[in-house]
Order: sequence, then C-alpha cells, then structure tokens
Amino acid sequence: MRDGAQQEGLNLSVQDKLHVARHLDDLGVGFIEGGWPGSNPKDTEFFALAAKELELRTATLAAFGATRRAGLRAADDPLVAALRESGAPVVTLVAKSHDRHVELALRTTLEENLAMVRDTVEHLRAEGQRVFVDCEHFFDGYVANRAYALEVVRTAAEAGADVVVLCDTNGGMLPHQVEEVVADTLSVGARLGIHAHNDTGCAVANSMAAVRAGATHLQGCLNGYGERTGNADLVTSVANLELKLGMQVLPEGALAEATRIAHAVSEITNYPPSARQPYTGVSSFAHKAGLHASAIRVDPDLYQHIDPALVGNDMRLLVSEMAGRATIELKGRELGYDVGDDAERLGRITERVKAMEQQGYTFEAADASFELLLAEEMEGARPSYFDVESWRVLAESSRGTEATVKLRAAGQRLAVIGEGNGPVNALDHALRQAIEQLYPDVARFHLIDFRVRILDQGHGTDAVTRVLIETSDGKDAWVTVGVGPNMIEASWEALVDALTYGLRRHGVPVGTA
Ligand SMILES: [Zn+2]
Repeated sequence: MRDGAQQEGLNLSVQDKLHVARHLDDLGVGFIEGGWPGSNPKDTEFFALAAKELELRTATLAAFGATRRAGLRAADDPLVAALRESGAPVVTLVAKSHDRHVELALRTTLEENLAMVRDTVEHLRAEGQRVFVDCEHFFDGYVANRAYALEVVRTAAEAGADVVVLCDTNGGMLPHQVEEVVADTLSVGARLGIHAHNDTGCAVANSMAAVRAGATHLQGCLNGYGERTGNADLVTSVANLELKLGMQVLPEGALAEATRIAHAVSEITNYPPSARQPYTGVSSFAHKAGLHASAIRVDPDLYQHIDPALVGNDMRLLVSEMAGRATIELKGRELGYDVGDDAERLGRITERVKAMEQQGYTFEAADASFELLLAEEMEGARPSYFDVESWRVLAESSRGTEATVKLRAAGQRLAVIGEGNGPVNALDHALRQAIEQLYPDVARFHLIDFRVRILDQGHGTDAVTRVLIETSDGKDAWVTVGVGPNMIEASWEALVDALTYGLRRHGVPVGTA
C-alpha cells in the first residue's frame, strides 16, 4: 500500500487506506505495508487508527522506515522511535546496498552503513518487532560492487532480519539477470524476497524469476500501482504462482475474489481499472472473432489460458463486425436467451447487428443495447415503457441549458422541462423527471460515464457521432449505445435505452404504471 500510493495522481486519505487494507486482507495477503510512520502526519495517524480500528484476519501490518541516521544510536533516532511506537508487528526497513548510493546519497562510509543496518535491526528485534530489510537498488549495487551488496544482505540476516528483500528500485532488470543474481545471493544463507518495479515491463516476470531462483517472499501492489510504470501487480504475481507454478500462496478460495477486490480498490483510488489488466481486466477473457466463437461453443478452454472463474472473472463475448452466428448465439445464451434454436431468426439477428455496426453502432461494450435488440427479436417487439412524442433542447445560456421532453406512458401525457449544465445533462434530467413520476425505480439510476466518438464513415458519407453511456443503479452498471448525426441525437438514443434497460432489469413489467 505504501509503494502503490507513490503512483502519480493517486491520493489516499487515512480512511481510504483503512478500506484498502481491509480489501487486501480479504485477498489473503500475508503482510500489508501501511506507510512510513514519523515521515508525515497522515501515515502516523494511519497506524494510530489501524491499531484501534483495523481487524485483520490473515494479514499482518508492517510499518516502513529507514535504517538509523549515521552517527546516531538506533535507540536515540526519533524516526526509528516512530517505527517502534507504530504498533505494527513488522517493520520493513529500507537499507542502502549500492556503494555509490551510500557515499553520494547517505554521505557516509560503507562501514557506517553496515553498522546502521546491524544496529537498527538488532534494536527493533530486541524491542519485539519482526524486521524485513529492503535492500534498495540491490541489483544495480550488485553489478557495481557485488561483494558489498552481499555484505549488506549478510549483515541484515545476522542481525536478525526475517527476510532480506532484494529491490530492483529503478526497475531496469530483466528476468535472466534477476534469476542469476538471486541464485548467487542465496549463498549468503539469508531468506530472500523480491521487490520489482515495472520499468522494463518485467516486474511480474522478474518476480517469477526470483521465486524460481529461490526467493520465498514477494512484494507487489494491487493493480500494479506504483511510481513511474508501477510495481509488480499483486494479483498477476499471485495468480501466476498459484495457477502456473502450483504454489499455494493465498488461503483456500481467496484467489476467486481477486477480480472483485481489484475493482473495489480501483473505486477507492479513483483510478479506472485497466481493461487489459492480466487476470482481472474486463477484457482479460473477452473473445471477439466469430471464428473463435464457434470453437468456444464446443470447448471454452481452447481459447483461454485458465478458467476465468479461478480469479473471479468471466468469459465475455464481444459482438462485433467480425461476429458470426456462433458469437450471437453464445452471447444470447450468456444473457439468458436461447437464440440458437431458430436458424432463420439467428441469421436475421446476425445480419441486423452487422448492418447496425456498419452505421456506427458498437455492441462490444454496449451489452444493454444488445440485450434490448435481442429481446425485440425474441419477443416480437422492443420493450417499451413510454412513447416519446417529442424532445428538444430549448436554450443554452451562461446559466445552463433547458430541455423539454413530451411523452406518453400508461395512458398519460407528460411534458417536462429539465435543466442541466449542457444539452445532454438537461435532456437526461427532463426524461428522468418525466418517467420517474410513473416508475419510481428511475430515481436510483444515474449516469456514471459518457463517451463520445466521431466516426468518419468514409468517402461520400457524412461523419456520424457515437455515444456510449454507462448507467448505474448503485449496485450494477450497464452500457448503452446511440448513433446520430450529432452528439445530442446520439445521446438521446442511448439515454432512452439506458432507462428502458434499467427498468427491465429491475423486473418492472411494461405498462404497469
Ligand atoms: Zn519500490
């Protein structure tokens, strides 16, 4: 958690960190590095609150800090005192292991640095804390001065450190180098760990290489958070260890919670989860090509490296221009429709999807619009809770925008004016206010994401606008699509779909109002 919070643009409050810690505990990690007590008031407060409020089931809290200052006794160093008094059962102590860093950054001698490691570890051990020593810049230090880097590891282990963690602080290593260095460093006789940054795109690969060479402790961050290009992604690392290398790392069954937890934490960090994150991304098990889909129908394992349920993810079929009948059939089944039993209807739906995609629609992300299309084809008519008579955006001024919507529903005629900070916002308000009078469920729906794309239709035709809208009811979210000659018309179509789909999903029967 400490190193992940170094990510640019990521700013966690003390309460946020308590929430993240609970999620990490749910994932079943062994240790959570909470922060650097004494370095800033927020981290000090976190440990004070954690001691009172945080009940961890599997994880142990670790405080991060540095070895004592040069020329001072560990017992007299106020920063070491902050670690001692943090209440954390474990201290992760960062130590210099690169000779040039000792001389240039610490401005002390190589001998004094060793004394600082020994003294600080011994002191904290004597005070009852377990100590992990993070050897900063270890791999670069090893290349520059192997004997000294190994001496730091030996000193830490002899002073009583449980684990000596080899850090690729600059993240510049490649897996074969890590494997060699870890294997050689084992000759010191210490228990080793790995802490890898992703600057060569190899953080996880380097972590795997270290484990294969004999490291038994791995540090990583959820969703690969971290400064620059991030740290080794925790879920990817753990899933690789469990599913690829056959090691039991987490408590039984915990890995199946990984996708849920990774996404829950991205809500707290306010960093949208990457669709392409290995194992936990929404695209991680998404299949597009129609050719694949026909084989997937026979055996899903042919096109995915693991069963997505092992990490709590799902296989997803993308309805796309490449889609053949098999994709539509499988996608229909995923949504609860048996489309395959009528070859003619299946052919009609496939043709319709292809024609709409030609016009600019996309159903890859817009599952909700696709489901409405399927429902229409299967049930003979599009689900409809209201008939729109007319709508228009009235005026735009510095005070905002007004829109009117006139519609009929359940024998009533409604005309509503909505206000908003733009035409789409105003239309959304007007439509919602009108329908809410008849269908109270709508009050719980809100627009959470809005994406506009101008599509160049090629020679001879005008560009069209495509809008994707994501709507949430506080529990689930769904995406709808609209296409039109401009943003307002495209948005309107997506808004109508969004409310229609939401009501249907809530089980509201058509025409009950
Ligand atoms: Zn780091």
